Amino acid sequence: MPTAETELQYETPFQLLVATILSAQCTDKRVNMVTPALFERFPDAGSMAQASVAEVYAFIKSVSYPNNKAKHLVGMASMVVRDFGGAIPDHPDELQKLPGVGRKTANVVASVVYKRAVIAVDTHVFRVSHRLGLSQGRTPEKVERDLNALIPPQMLPVAHHWLILHGRYVCTARNPQCAKCGLAEWCPSEGAERR
Ligand code: SF4
Repeated sequence: MPTAETELQYETPFQLLVATILSAQCTDKRVNMVTPALFERFPDAGSMAQASVAEVYAFIKSVSYPNNKAKHLVGMASMVVRDFGGAIPDHPDELQKLPGVGRKTANVVASVVYKRAVIAVDTHVFRVSHRLGLSQGRTPEKVERDLNALIPPQMLPVAHHWLILHGRYVCTARNPQCAKCGLAEWCPSEGAERR
């Protein structure tokens, strides 16, 4: 699957950053339901920076933790306008200065939009990396370090999507589909759920 991509819908770096902030502890499907109207009303950092938290909340109230996320979005947009001239920064360290943007979100935006050689470790990447024997790290940071050592830098952005999609649709948290998994031959955890 050479062209694996994010399932979040977006058209600009700003929109991907917003969608990724909204996707924390929430499904991409749910986020994709609220972002079309949100992006129509607030198409860029400049327009969202002028919004009130309550205005943003009204658009995102059906995602998880809408109060915090509305505050983060307005704070993020304000800082992007004030400190970055309205453009979303391309380096993970700069991205992490923005409200609501942790290491995972920063790495998603840096790799998906700017093709930087970084990998974001979410719950799927964490689980699948363990099952495949790519890492035994107990924290996302340790798993990230192991994946950085194993995967060629230019392949890190697409590997992120491979691992996420594999975890979402095949190597699921409960009942992994080992019988139809293309990696079963090499996987040390193959059939482990049945043992
Ligand atoms: Fe996951 Fe099973 Fe495939 Fe291993 S063989 S990656 S445990 S689905």
